[in-house]
Amino acid sequence: MIITKKDVTGQYNLPLEVKFCRRCTMSNQRPRIHFDEQGICSACRFSDVKRSKIDWSERERELRDLCDRNRKNNGEYDVIVPCSGGKDGSFVAHQLKFEFGMNPLTVTWAPLQATEIGRRNLDAFIQSGFDNILGTPNGAVTRKLARLATQHMGDPFQPFIYGQTNFPLHMAVKHNVQLVMYGENGEVEYGGDMKNAFRPTRDLEDHDKHYFSGLPVEFWTEHGVSLADLKPFSAPNPEQVRSNKTEIHFLGYYKSWDPQENYYYCREHTGFTPNTERSEGTYSKYASLDDRIDGFHYYLGFIKFGIGRTTSDASHEIRDGKIEREEGIALVRRYDGEFPERYYKEFLEYCDITDEQFREILDSWRPDHLWRKTSNGWELKHAVWHEIDALGT
Ligand SMILES: [Zn+2]
Repeated sequence: MIITKKDVTGQYNLPLEVKFCRRCTMSNQRPRIHFDEQGICSACRFSDVKRSKIDWSERERELRDLCDRNRKNNGEYDVIVPCSGGKDGSFVAHQLKFEFGMNPLTVTWAPLQATEIGRRNLDAFIQSGFDNILGTPNGAVTRKLARLATQHMGDPFQPFIYGQTNFPLHMAVKHNVQLVMYGENGEVEYGGDMKNAFRPTRDLEDHDKHYFSGLPVEFWTEHGVSLADLKPFSAPNPEQVRSNKTEIHFLGYYKSWDPQENYYYCREHTGFTPNTERSEGTYSKYASLDDRIDGFHYYLGFIKFGIGRTTSDASHEIRDGKIEREEGIALVRRYDGEFPERYYKEFLEYCDITDEQFREILDSWRPDHLWRKTSNGWELKHAVWHEIDALGT
């Protein structure tokens, strides 16, 4: 395995001067995020808009119209809801079925390495009243892709992201369903491309850019994965999607999105249970519980952008008014760069790489403007808690 230094800054167009939002804990290193003259990030600005400028009862009427246009009443499915059994997809499916009278088909793309709690939540969700199709790709191919993606994209989770993005579209075409309903638009809610802030849909053309870091599934043929092996991860033919009139919508456009409230809702309605211990790299117990590999996805994000899982969790909880910024900063300091030890050995075996190779891969993804090497190992040149230290508090 030849590991070369990556141009993270160029690839993701990262600003060389690191700034932190004055209201949350997010930095300007999140790809596609925008900071205004007051030093406030686009996600915080959008949360102001959610609170004060959007007429949510009008949006609810739009949702009723959308459902009325798509409802079938002939026994066929009328909406596809991508759902792992976690709090967000389960909330969407439950709302559409029981508040809006839709007949959803829920679809799940299998985790790389499922956790017990994730599987239990999916089962409980199905038991609470839903049809579900689980898509499970060839395990050997998935492992190979996870290894290649770790090395070439700095993200072992990429094969999952391909499947999770494309499988619902396949199911829509196959079952003649025109509506696919996701939860939140991450680009808008958490900082990114704001072009969809005021419209409910997402363009298929943005998938490569927003979800696949510019590398579509077919790229991996260059690394010896056959088209046949890549098929389950690939998007359906765009012509099929168009002639099926498939549209991707976000519930977060129609209803004010609040992950913590979704958690309370699903605990009550879909049998959702949180983890007994917090996830590594953050303080939360109820988000992204399904996969033993995903800690490495978040950890590599921390290496590439200096943004770990706590930075993201704390930022949206600050925006949602659940915690104060100071508390968020303290949590970032405590948990953000925590290495995912719990499944490390399993991860190495899964990807068929050694500890030494993985450490080399990590270092190949560290941008020079974010990291310095000291006698104690690597440290971030800029961290949100430095401003607290500078104030002497
Ligand atoms: Zn912010």
